[in-house]
Amino acid sequence: MTKFPPLVIPDTLAAGPGPGNTDPRVLAAFNNSGIADHMHPDVVRGMQESKVMLRELFGTKNTYTYGIAGTGWSGLDSLHSAIQPGDKVVAFNNGTFSGIDCHTIRMKASMPDDFAADPMHPKPANVAVIEVAHGTSVTGQMVDEALAGSGAMWAAMTHWETGSGRINDIQGFSDACVKHGVMGLVDSVSSLGIEDFNTDDYPGVVGWASCPQKGVLALPLTYAPVTFTDAYINVVAKRGCANFVNHPILNARHWSIVDGEDVATAGYHQTHSCYAVASFHEALRIILEYGRSKKAADYAFHESVLTEAVTAMGCKVTSNMTSLVVLNLPEALAGREKELVQDCRAAGFGIWPTLSEPVQIRIGILNQLSEDAISDIVGRFADAMKDKGAGDIDKNAILAQVKLRFNNVK
Ligand SMILES: *Cc1c(COP(=O)(O)O)cnc(C)c1O
Repeated sequence: MTKFPPLVIPDTLAAGPGPGNTDPRVLAAFNNSGIADHMHPDVVRGMQESKVMLRELFGTKNTYTYGIAGTGWSGLDSLHSAIQPGDKVVAFNNGTFSGIDCHTIRMKASMPDDFAADPMHPKPANVAVIEVAHGTSVTGQMVDEALAGSGAMWAAMTHWETGSGRINDIQGFSDACVKHGVMGLVDSVSSLGIEDFNTDDYPGVVGWASCPQKGVLALPLTYAPVTFTDAYINVVAKRGCANFVNHPILNARHWSIVDGEDVATAGYHQTHSCYAVASFHEALRIILEYGRSKKAADYAFHESVLTEAVTAMGCKVTSNMTSLVVLNLPEALAGREKELVQDCRAAGFGIWPTLSEPVQIRIGILNQLSEDAISDIVGRFADAMKDKGAGDIDKNAILAQVKLRFNNVK
């Protein structure tokens, strides 16, 4: 028999695009949950209350607002499952994650011949992928031009592209979808719980999917929030979809949503973990207590302090997300990004490189909204750059400027 010692996973500073450091209250909720089963009234009530809180977080009146068990891709699998083989889709790719969304969409929209030609990466002619350069945002004009005369049924875009740290134009996307009669599908994995927005303000978008471990900060594998408008649900109700577990309508039964209505009792769909329900519920309570708009403003402020600090170290920031800074090292250190990231990670400072070309460094601030946390990140990054030979960095002056920025808002 193979015998391993007990697994010990170190506590690191999660300072990347996600997952973010889990709030102790979320972990306590996980630990303190009993082992009631997935039809126990308190577990079901936890799901019903979470559904109500999710509607507030998304800013929507959509009845079909709930969580898909798993990670971001689980929710996106549900979102994209309304796409059937042969459907015409226009999808925008400006980084790692929208690239995977486009991959998923090509699979959903493929006919058997498309799979036969390339089983893992089918390229059906009915899916047009608009390639937008890394580090560039998708603009409303790009969407308008791509949708004009396309005859597409669906358009797909990532709200915040975490690969390159770019915010795409959601207003322009929604407007273009309305103008051209196309149904918009949006990956909001990196924006929900960080940006202050109401999905109901974007009528061109019929479905949104997010994830547990970024803005929502409920890592202990919980739920990917999703919300679907009636227009989306009607398509699935009429045409069906080839998905049981993440089926947009069937999955909702366990969240007490049946025939477009909230109902009093849940219907079994899959086993839900009492631990997941308790921790997800607590994470939503924390965000709503903090306040969506205050959280968005706090992310913007803390990101601006971090950006100013790394700029003072000679780095060039190319992102505009408020939870993540994507940067190029100064000329003298160019090409050493991966090495620097590896050293930081080995020391428990969990920053990331980009996962697709070009190689850049990503530093995230999920759940790091305090002067101590930002100073710690800035200090560790300055040390890492100095170790690599960036001798001219004045770490003390940079930390003093961080302190000044926080003093100015006290
Ligand atoms: C992180 C991320 C995903 C994937 O989420 P997982 O939780 O890893 O499944 C998808 N899209 C975007 C925009 C992301 O940032």
